[in-house]
Parts: sequence; C-alpha cells; structure tokens
Amino acid sequence: MSTSFHSRVVGQREARARLSDAVRSGRVAHAYLFSGPRGVGKTALALEFAALLLCEREGAEPCGECVNCPASLALRHPDLHLIYPLPSKKAGSTEDDEREFAAVIATQNAALAKDPYTFLRPAKAKDVRISLVRGLIHHASMKPYQARRKVLIVLQADAMNTQAQNALLKALEEPPSNAYFLLTTENEGGLLQTIRSRCQRVRLAPLSSEEVADALVKSGVAGPQAELAAAMSGGSLSHARELSRDNLEDLQRRVIAFLRAAAVCDPVELRKVTATLLDSDQMPEQTALEFIGLLLRDVALSRIARNAARHPVTFRGFEDRIDAILLAYPEADFDAAARAVDVSADYLARGYTRDFVMFALAIRLHEALGPRTKSSTKQTRLDHA
Ligand SMILES: [Zn+2]
Repeated sequence: MSTSFHSRVVGQREARARLSDAVRSGRVAHAYLFSGPRGVGKTALALEFAALLLCEREGAEPCGECVNCPASLALRHPDLHLIYPLPSKKAGSTEDDEREFAAVIATQNAALAKDPYTFLRPAKAKDVRISLVRGLIHHASMKPYQARRKVLIVLQADAMNTQAQNALLKALEEPPSNAYFLLTTENEGGLLQTIRSRCQRVRLAPLSSEEVADALVKSGVAGPQAELAAAMSGGSLSHARELSRDNLEDLQRRVIAFLRAAAVCDPVELRKVTATLLDSDQMPEQTALEFIGLLLRDVALSRIARNAARHPVTFRGFEDRIDAILLAYPEADFDAAARAVDVSADYLARGYTRDFVMFALAIRLHEALGPRTKSSTKQTRLDHA
C-alpha cells in the first residue's frame, strides 16, 4: 500500500519523542493531559498518539497501513472514542434534536480528521455533556473490538462541569486495563487538581515562527504573507492560518488605530475602533489582545534600538507610525502597557464582556503611555500615526 503515514503535527518534536518512547518501552500511562495555548497542536498530537496506541506495529509513529491505522486516523475506529463540548440538550429533546446532534458530531469529527488544527467549539457549545462522559466511561469498560487498546479522548476537557469531571475521575482512578484516556485543555486550572494529578502532563509550548511559516507555505500560502502571519501568530498555527487569510496590512492598521484611541482615551472613538478591530473579521478578542501586545513590543523595541538600524518584528512597514507613537508619548511605560494587555486577557478568560475588557484596557494603556507631548510638530506627526 502506498498510504504510508505523514505526520500532521507541526513541531513539538520533544513531546512526540516522549510519547513514542512510552509506547516502544511499554510504559504508556493510562491518562495524558495535553495542555498549552490555542493552535500549538494539542489536538493534532493527541489524535496522532491515539492512532499510535491503536496501531498494530507500535513503531515510533502510526504506520498508516495496518488494519487499525486508516480507521483511527479517520476517527472511525471502534476502539477510539472522542468527545468535546456540544450545545446543551434541551429539556424534552426530540428525535430530531438527537439527529441534529449526531449530525453536528459527524461534521466535527470529519473536520477534525481532515485537519486537527481547525477545531472550534460548535456554536453555543459550553459544556462537555455529562451524558457523553458517561458514554465514554462505558466504552472504556468494554474490551477492545479490534486493537489491543481502547483510546478515550476528551477535547477541551476543562469544559466538563464538576459533576462530569468527578465521573471521569472515578474512571481515571481505576482505569480498565486496556483503556487509555487523552485529555486536552488550554486551561489546566479549569480541571480538578485530582484529575490533573492522575494524568501525565504533556505541555506544549508555542511553535517557533519558522515552524509556523513553514507549515503555512506547505499549505500553499505565499512566502512573505506566511512569514508575516507567522510572526504575528504568537506561535499558534490556528491564529496564523486565520491571519494568512486576512488582509494583514489592514489588520495592522486597525490595531494601531485602537492604540491611538486608547492613548487619548476618547470614549467615542474607542467604541468605534474596538468595533472595527473585532468585527471586521470576527477576530477573537484574545487574538486582538495578542496583536496589541505585539504592537507594544515593537514600539518598546524601537525605543531601545533608537538610532540603530531597527526593524519592527511584526509591524513591518509601519516604522513611521511607531516613531510617531514614541515621539508623542516620551514617558511611556511599556512594561506597564504589556501588563495591561495581560490583565485584559485574564479578564476575558474570566468571562467579562468584550466592551468592558477593551475599555478597561484603554484606560490602563492611557495611564501607561503617560502624557502626550504638546509640541506642534510632533502633534502633526502623531496625526499621521
Ligand atoms: Zn498502523
């Protein structure tokens, strides 16, 4: 057969090596927790590891050719079970609702099998339903049909409520001998400590810009666009892909416009630029915050590198505007500004509304940047910023 396996995991060499060593040395743990920021490959790695656990050959990676590999890689293996957040069940749900859910799951699974970096929660999906967790545990208790093991996967495991986590915990405490649980999360703190302590942690760091750019080029994005999207991605392939589809220059302009409005704390303008920034491509708020952080980093680096030849890392082509910001705010405290962005990310994670978060960020940025210089020539330059 010519279907030999091509890994879809980008980077993360160390974690991959560690997992294959576990299989080769026969020391596979019964539970793994893959954690790290969005888009670094948690799902991709977990799915590939699942295929490796089910593969007949138990090599360093799934062989792609045995009786198990094609089915497990397509997420249609009887010994592979996968759950994730879905919209909550309506009271008194009908057969139609059930069919609808089954259709959502089929679509999601097919998308995941095709490309594990595009996984997004279905609309309105808040929780990993407890009924699905119970179903998963039931599958775990049964003998494998075809492979030597059974693999049970919970994506975005922090979206299990406490009741669901407690149900899973029981299974993790006394795992059936052939059952292997793989959990992924962007938010380890959202999992019970008792669950975390039952799992081997696999922490995935952000990818390097080179790894991201390389992956984009391989998927057909032009070189310069790929490099820029990679530089702005914060090491997330998912972000980078979203960016490579956008008009990046326009996005950079919108981020600068936000910083300008924040610096003068003009509430009317702020509302406008926030809406433009977030609504134009339905950009996730976290991504917008990352870009604001990247802009601040470029401005801060420019100040340090004054007079030396300098190149903004991500806002290439916007040197004039960065200069204008530096001239206009000579007392700016960029550490405080960067902290303000971190605090805002934290607010978002805790569920504050987007308008509140962005407005609170603007006030903090206004304070961090300090007074605007009065010089009329500099004023003129800022007007072009
Ligand atoms: Zn195989």
